[in-house]
Amino acid sequence: MEQKPIKKVLIANRGEIAVRIMRTCREMGIKTVAIFSDADRLSMHVKYADEAYNIGAAPSSESYLNMDKVLATAKKSGADAIHPGYGFLSENATFSRRCRESGITFIGPSPESIETMGDKISARKKMISAGVPVVPGTTDKVTNEAEAIRQIKEIGLPVMIKASAGGGGRGMRLVHKDSEVTHLLRAARSEAKTAFGDDAVYIEKYVDSPHHVEFQVLSDRHGNTVHLFERECSVQRRHQKVVEETPSPLLTPEVRAKMGACAVAAANACNYEGAGTIEFIMDDQLNFYFLEMNTRLQVEHPITELVVGVDLVKEQIRIAEGKALTIKQDELTQNGHAIECRIIAEDTDNNFMPNPGTITHITEPLGLGVRCDGYVYEGYTIPIHYDSLISKLIVWGPTREEAIERMSRALAEYKIVGVKTTIRFLERIMENTDFRSGKYNTHFIEKNLAFLLADNQENANEEDIALIATFAEYLFRLEDSKKTTVASTGKKETNWKRQLRKFTSRI
Ligand code: ADP
Ligand code: ADP
Ligand code: MG
Repeated sequence: MEQKPIKKVLIANRGEIAVRIMRTCREMGIKTVAIFSDADRLSMHVKYADEAYNIGAAPSSESYLNMDKVLATAKKSGADAIHPGYGFLSENATFSRRCRESGITFIGPSPESIETMGDKISARKKMISAGVPVVPGTTDKVTNEAEAIRQIKEIGLPVMIKASAGGGGRGMRLVHKDSEVTHLLRAARSEAKTAFGDDAVYIEKYVDSPHHVEFQVLSDRHGNTVHLFERECSVQRRHQKVVEETPSPLLTPEVRAKMGACAVAAANACNYEGAGTIEFIMDDQLNFYFLEMNTRLQVEHPITELVVGVDLVKEQIRIAEGKALTIKQDELTQNGHAIECRIIAEDTDNNFMPNPGTITHITEPLGLGVRCDGYVYEGYTIPIHYDSLISKLIVWGPTREEAIERMSRALAEYKIVGVKTTIRFLERIMENTDFRSGKYNTHFIEKNLAFLLADNQENANEEDIALIATFAEYLFRLEDSKKTTVASTGKKETNWKRQLRKFTSRI
């Protein structure tokens, strides 16, 4: 089969993920091309890349989502491949197809695989035929209320109404009572229409005490698929992940092996090629059901990299070049424990409102076992147009306990001034007994909200005072080197000393 070495990659994305992909490209000796919108002229991914091209106005529809411009820039720059990152065009079958038609390698799966798995209804059908357990529910879309009520009776309350095109936690509604069906069905459909341009929804049984456990897979075009174990992503707010860890504190070796086999079967069922994630929902008895497949690199992929020892972006590129996987399933092991915290510019005391703005000071954590995948720097202004993820803080430790201690230490070292962030909230998660015990489900944040938000302000004030003190000390030191001669005495003195002398002589 054809093998095409990749020499130059256009990264059709921005922010931390664009930088992360470029880092691996540089290690592989591959040239990088950045694209940027008007709002991202000063972004780190633009500075990091070998070449950068402006592709339009700030709204993503006019820049990062504009396929014509992205493809024209790839041609112009002589890039032979495009890496889509996550979000934006990463799960867009038309884009994958257009890359193929333009003779540019899409670092990701075929348009056919994306079509099958991107639509959650068709993915459910595919999984049923592959023998992978799915959440009990409808296999076809539900368009009217009478049908919805009939289906819900059969499935039994509570249920989730979910958008077939859904993603990012949108187009989803939890239904507890019959009387809620009408308006929640309408709400889910209209949100899906606005977010995805498609109002198809289906109904799924709501899994009690749910745990989100997902498996990383890699498939090449020669028929080899491996899984790289799980990621536990049950620390969620509004169905969006906040903290992820691996291994999952919940799984037994037997269940892990079963789920891994299902993940491999799922990837094979859609002739998958590249890195992908099979998401499962699991109850307290460890019954698990297929939720969806993400046909791209996942935000939380670094925890797998640290525990399994594989660079997933490097594997994506090798697979896209047509190479066969060199990783063997029986040689893969989980070594130690990794945790990721998403550092987001949000005001946790104000209902987690996005809080973009200018970073006036930043100190990133360092030290043994710490990885910080970010893109901001001192003086950088986070634009209002995109999501407010600042960075991902990832730690590794030999055991779960040590990883938690290390994450607490790293979060305490992390200082960001100028915008409000989730750092203190994440520190409270690390301190929480439910989290520490490993016995938590997707209700964790809701259940512990009071604890997680407590003493936020008090600590923020202490940190502000500490920062002011540090800055004052810095100024003192600067002043020390600039001494002036006092006319009356002929002695040299710093400005601070003079001010102090004047002040004390007055009292
Ligand atoms: P992960 O499982 O990797 O955390 P998320 O569901 O949080 O993935 O989504 C990752 C990013 O992709 C987020 O910025 C989210 O807003 C975006 N995203 C996810 N699904 C879609 C979609 N269907 N269309 C557009 N953006 C999406
Ligand atoms: P998205 O495409 O938006 O990521 P998912 O289907 O992956 O949507 O679901 C996102 C989250 O919503 C899950 O991680 C889980 O917390 C919750 N969820 C989804 N379906 C169910 C279900 N049937 N029962 C319980 N929780 C669910
Ligand atoms: Mg999901």
